[in-house]
Amino acid sequence: MPEKVIIIGSGPAGWTAAIYAARANLEPLVFAGRPKSSPSLVLPGGQLMLTTDVENYPGFPEGVTGPKMMAYFEQQAVRFGTRIVTDEGMNPDVSDPDDGHSSKYQDCKSVDFSSRPFTVVGEDDKVYESHSVIVATGATANWIGLENEQRLAISGGGVSACAVCDGAMPIFRNKELGVVGGGDSAVEEATYLTKFASKVYMIHRRDKLRASKIMQKRALDNPKIEVLWNKVVVDVLGDASITGVRLRDTGTDEESDRQLGGLFVAIGHTPATEFLQGQLELDAKGYVKLKDTYRSTTSVEGVFAAGDVSDSVYRQAVTAAGMGCKAAMDAERWLADQGLD
Ligand code: NAP
Repeated sequence: MPEKVIIIGSGPAGWTAAIYAARANLEPLVFAGRPKSSPSLVLPGGQLMLTTDVENYPGFPEGVTGPKMMAYFEQQAVRFGTRIVTDEGMNPDVSDPDDGHSSKYQDCKSVDFSSRPFTVVGEDDKVYESHSVIVATGATANWIGLENEQRLAISGGGVSACAVCDGAMPIFRNKELGVVGGGDSAVEEATYLTKFASKVYMIHRRDKLRASKIMQKRALDNPKIEVLWNKVVVDVLGDASITGVRLRDTGTDEESDRQLGGLFVAIGHTPATEFLQGQLELDAKGYVKLKDTYRSTTSVEGVFAAGDVSDSVYRQAVTAAGMGCKAAMDAERWLADQGLD
């Protein structure tokens, strides 16, 4: 018997879709996947696994760590009957959020949306059939790729890929901060950070910003922002917390150190959609195209998308969760219309 709904992804969008689908008696099956956001992570859960304190998700007045929040989401989904594909079979192994999990969650290897029921293939080549699928595989922030950058990002040592998520934290207040990148995100993050920082250095590898003209003006006119042109970060300095960065001038190759109290990497995101090539309509940057901005419908009837995989604009845990809710409700209604519930 085909599943009613398979959910691919285990960030806020995936787990919220699972909670809603499970409560609608759709008995969702989740491919939680292997962690992608950093090579050093062992648990899935998307971008939040790299976030220490989440302070902007409603309902947690004292804040909550990203991994703990994802464990709570998962527990809530399992409580209502969500099943998770693991190496040991369909065996949700939800343990104390403080201790993490022991099961090895399976990645989805490929999908076939060309005929119904759809098929979803796990890492172990097991084929699952489903009447509907919710894609919630997220997008990964691009990192420079430095060992110390990753170490300090994971430990909460002052390196982040999201100013809106982390910028208001006390550790960044009244400090000189760095933002890497020259696109709209970098300008937006730098501008946002000027609310808290004493100064923000935008570190850009060229002599021109990629950002739109209006955004460029916003950055260049801001007295708290200074652009360090033609510079790349070659190392992040500091043991427990960042103390600065080592920069290389792309013209002269000269290296210099700059003291910083925080570093925000804003060099774009990559949606996790490689496995969807040829199956769903994607935009030029690889994000899943939604048929209607207010819905979760995609180019294939019965396949829905939620969260950062189909949203390059907001990219917040709370917006992703909202999209997960919409996708589950869209799937539920579609299944009912088809007489497949
Ligand atoms: P983006 O436009 O792709 O810009 C990425 C920036 O990072 C570029 O300046 C690029 O440098 C730099 N970069 C890439 N790889 C790097 C590396 N390894 N080391 C150092 N620098 C690197 O990405 P984005 O800024 O995230 O924007 C994504 C999309 O969202 C865009 O279409 C953007 O317009 C949109 N967006 C819009 C708004 C808004 O309108 N408010 C806000 C945010 C994003 P180069 O310039 O040299 O390539």
